[in-house]
Amino acid sequence: MYRIAIDGPGGAGKSSVAKMVAKACGIIYVDTGALYRTVALYMIKNGIDIDNEDAVRSALESVKITLSFSDGVQKIFLCGEDVGDSIRTPEISMAASKVSAIRSVRDFLLDTQRSIAAEQSVIMDGRDIGSVILPDAEIKIFLTASPEARARRRCDELHAKGIDVQYETVLKEMNERDRNDSTRALSPCIRVKDAVLIDNSKITLEETRDKILRLIRKRMDKKFKLYIALKATLGWAVRFIMRLKVHGKENLPLAGGALLCPNHITLMDAPALASSLPRQIRFMAKAEIFNVPVIGAVVKSTGAIKVDRRGSDVGAIKSAISKIKNGDIVAVFPQGTRRAGLNPADTKIKNGAGMIAFRAHCPVIPVAIKTKNNRFRLFRKYEIFIGKPIGYDSLFPDPKVPDYRASSEKIFSEICRIGGFIPTKTEDK
Ligand code: C5P
Repeated sequence: MYRIAIDGPGGAGKSSVAKMVAKACGIIYVDTGALYRTVALYMIKNGIDIDNEDAVRSALESVKITLSFSDGVQKIFLCGEDVGDSIRTPEISMAASKVSAIRSVRDFLLDTQRSIAAEQSVIMDGRDIGSVILPDAEIKIFLTASPEARARRRCDELHAKGIDVQYETVLKEMNERDRNDSTRALSPCIRVKDAVLIDNSKITLEETRDKILRLIRKRMDKKFKLYIALKATLGWAVRFIMRLKVHGKENLPLAGGALLCPNHITLMDAPALASSLPRQIRFMAKAEIFNVPVIGAVVKSTGAIKVDRRGSDVGAIKSAISKIKNGDIVAVFPQGTRRAGLNPADTKIKNGAGMIAFRAHCPVIPVAIKTKNNRFRLFRKYEIFIGKPIGYDSLFPDPKVPDYRASSEKIFSEICRIGGFIPTKTEDK
């Protein structure tokens, strides 16, 4: 599990960017501003004076907020009713800023926020996520932009929702809200020491997303120090002796967990992938290889997952799933074993790839490995084709009855398609 905290003033694009990052990483996005907005909505709807702290504190007893997440997107319910966009008006923005300065309100929402992040990997945005809510978050970002750029964006956002506002009014209110949020005594909106500052006044939301994804990857890669060092030293030798060429590197997600599924033709498949892909890959490797002198140590240093092939190794599968959920890429060969000299399209496959993708709820990256006669020879050209990720939804159209066979076949047919492998015989498939 990992937690990403994004703090910063309103209108910096925190929620849009956080949504995009959540989607790319397959984790949930928690919009904490919506919680404060919902409290404010309750107070206004019920005629509670938000300048009266005691009145707000006693009204909190009746505030019942629940959250639900579908496909990573948050929905918020106030006393069982979906609040939808009713919390997005300028009036509620200002009221949220006011109620958020009241201690009882902050205390009231603290557990809700922490308990969500205790159960799953999250990206959470707000004002005090890195400082108070998740002080030990793995990644902290302080996202900001000039007040003018933020007011312009907020204005566009409101106009798109059919809410008529003037730019000058939005700018004025934004400045006032900034002042409230950053100067209040309780959990002010500040950049903590370990947060990375991103000013996105002059870059697009997509560029901001990619910056954050690279940052996440860099942090996650810290555990692969030895692997990265080996890649930088031995990697070139592998690429040289194999005359290795990689196509479609851009299809590899910048960050986030995924299952990589290559066809398996030679002993050099894993070293070739490990030394040439831009991200660190954890291979599911047979236990025997861990005992081979030197090679075993190298395999171990890459964070490979040991698989006992005498039966179905449940522990290895569980470990693969947890690594993917933790944001890593795990590689599994759908064919189960090496098929040297055979046309991949003529070989049998196992169901493991589909099963792991389902349980890890992750995208699958199909990879075709090609070389002449499907055998390794020194200096024989060796090509890797990385396909576009196959989404969870397209693998499991009905997640209530996951079909591991059909999903594994779908993955493998995509590998065959990108590799141009056409069956020559079909009887043993
Ligand atoms: O982010 P958003 O503009 O939706 O937040 C609404 C208000 O809620 C902010 O102006 C801020 O005062 C408050 N807030 C907060 N702490 C958070 C999130 C939001 O005080 N973690």
